[in-house]
Amino acid sequence: MAGIPEGITRVESIFSKFPGIGRKSARRIAFYLLNKDRDEIIQIAKALVDLKDKITHCPVCNHITEHIPCDLCANTKRDDSILCVVEDSMDVIALEKSVSFRGKYHVLGGLISPLDGVGPDDLAIDSLMQRLDKVKEIIIAINPSVEGDTTTFYLSRLLKKHPIKITRLARGIPVGGDLEYTDEATLARAIEGRIEIPNE
Ligand SMILES: [Zn+2]
Repeated sequence: MAGIPEGITRVESIFSKFPGIGRKSARRIAFYLLNKDRDEIIQIAKALVDLKDKITHCPVCNHITEHIPCDLCANTKRDDSILCVVEDSMDVIALEKSVSFRGKYHVLGGLISPLDGVGPDDLAIDSLMQRLDKVKEIIIAINPSVEGDTTTFYLSRLLKKHPIKITRLARGIPVGGDLEYTDEATLARAIEGRIEIPNE
């Protein structure tokens, strides 16, 4: 576009692809960065590179971490007998904020979605099956949506082969709503009022 240096346009087009950021906000970010000191820009760039280089997935629960195993898996005060299965790491962070759960987690890394070509093998389901020894209850804390319900159904059928109580969150989470956008009190109520999925 005439009158806009290419450096601005380039940064703008990078940020406009970020979730929740439109073209106008992307331009404001580009100008904001332009006004920063060079040192600050280097710090921002370094934080982004570190984000990619230092953060990995816990080999036990698949949550994002800088240590192996992650802090949640390494915490001996947490209850090994209850596992909360979630779609992604943002759900772990949301549930931890609600302070309603003291067991351990398992992050699937997505949901079964045949339309998007995502099948059970693309998710951390094998690693879930390998950690059932001490587990007495599995809470399937997955958002109610077509993909969420498909995944919950798949998991509950698979888990029924094991002598484990399987529960899901109580209603109260908006249908299609994300756990990460659900307020802490609602999440705490959904965990406390969890419902057993009958073992037919
Ligand atoms: Zn872990």
